[in-house]
Amino acid sequence: MATMRKVVKCDVCESKTLVRIQIGWLDSHPVRFNCGRCGILISGTLILNQIKGTAFIEFENATEVGNEDSTNFYIEISGELLTEKLQTYKYENTLFPPFFTSGIDMMGENFGIFKKKTLQFLMKKENYWPQYRRINELWHRKNYNYLVSELKKYIPNKNFPLNNELHFLMAVHQMNIEFLSSVLDDQFFNKNSSLVMNEIISLFERSPKEFGKLIDYFSEFLHRYEEKIFECIEVFVEKFNYMIPVFGLNFYQDKSLISNSKGITTVAFNDLKRFYIDVYEVLTEMLELLIALNNLKHRGNFKTMKTKRRDVVTLEDYVKKNKGAKAEFLDGSETFDNLLYPNLNSKLRNAISHYTYRVDGINQIITYYPSGNEKMKDPPTMSLVEFVQSCWNIFQSLINFAELVYQTRKMTYLKQGLVPSFEHVFQVEKKSIGKKSINKNKIRRKNAKTSKRKNRKQKK
Ligand SMILES: [Zn+2]
Repeated sequence: MATMRKVVKCDVCESKTLVRIQIGWLDSHPVRFNCGRCGILISGTLILNQIKGTAFIEFENATEVGNEDSTNFYIEISGELLTEKLQTYKYENTLFPPFFTSGIDMMGENFGIFKKKTLQFLMKKENYWPQYRRINELWHRKNYNYLVSELKKYIPNKNFPLNNELHFLMAVHQMNIEFLSSVLDDQFFNKNSSLVMNEIISLFERSPKEFGKLIDYFSEFLHRYEEKIFECIEVFVEKFNYMIPVFGLNFYQDKSLISNSKGITTVAFNDLKRFYIDVYEVLTEMLELLIALNNLKHRGNFKTMKTKRRDVVTLEDYVKKNKGAKAEFLDGSETFDNLLYPNLNSKLRNAISHYTYRVDGINQIITYYPSGNEKMKDPPTMSLVEFVQSCWNIFQSLINFAELVYQTRKMTYLKQGLVPSFEHVFQVEKKSIGKKSINKNKIRRKNAKTSKRKNRKQKK
């Protein structure tokens, strides 16, 4: 893998940093690192010319200079991979292959999959995002005439019926999942989305009356939940490029080789801190749906809470609690917990929203003070890489939660007697045999079976 050397001089303290840049497969990516002497953030965008093999970075707060004489610091820069953190410059150290070279070896053949999935998502983001977004906007605004004409333009399966709200819901959902599919956890299709569907169907079959009450209780909220989830998806699309090296972590064959000492040069804490708390807020606002489903599954009544606190016996007690107390109920002990657990870090969320954290940009360490007391002893810390992982994971949880909202909403339409579609918007004919299509087919078959069962029941 080709690398390039550049020397940049800090505009404040004039110390020089040698940067070794990985010439990868992204046309451009953000660059962030802190000056090793005065600590200020040096940021920019790297633009790559893949054909000529040249790279250009425009820096803020630093200037490119000609030679390596009297260089003070050294850092590796990559848009795709983790790197060694900033260190004191020693000429001999800069002769070894940079860390990201070994990072590629550690991915093995997965490196090709990582590249393919990343480029696929970037291509969709670049070319189709506005169309996906406007379809969602029309759905949220219940602007059905335009929604139908837009869907007709963009869904490949022209047999997909668009006659009722259930069809619209299914089409929009299938489009959103298709858009995100290349960056969703492998577990999403194999585990989480089928878990949600199967559990909801079995709850409905086991206790239709109670499930009906749950649906009546939540039906007025579900539309709003979808709007909020979509706002988070929008921010994720915008922030994706900052997180690519952390997305890459999914592809290392032996993750234990990636230690906390590794750094990331595409992002600073400030680039993502709002994203973390926004997704956290949205998730905790919707949490009562997940809790109600747990209540129904484990206690047969959607309002009966598990024993956790004396002052929370019913769902009504629960909704009055603050977000931290609400998140406490998610402890991994009940079925639906696993969609989010353990990705809601309320301590981190509190510290960010109260601005009680300190960032050591040079060493990429974040220290946070959950109670707001910056004098506390032994406050928790995390590396910048771990923080970006938290952002990545909480987003995956949000998409798991979106499945819960989707399947519940589907049930509300079925309860109203709307007829579902057994088509898939992206399936034109039965020739695709990719892994994902197989799973989708399986899910569709199950869906069809249940819906037919349900239709029979409703007709009775
Ligand atoms: Zn400086």
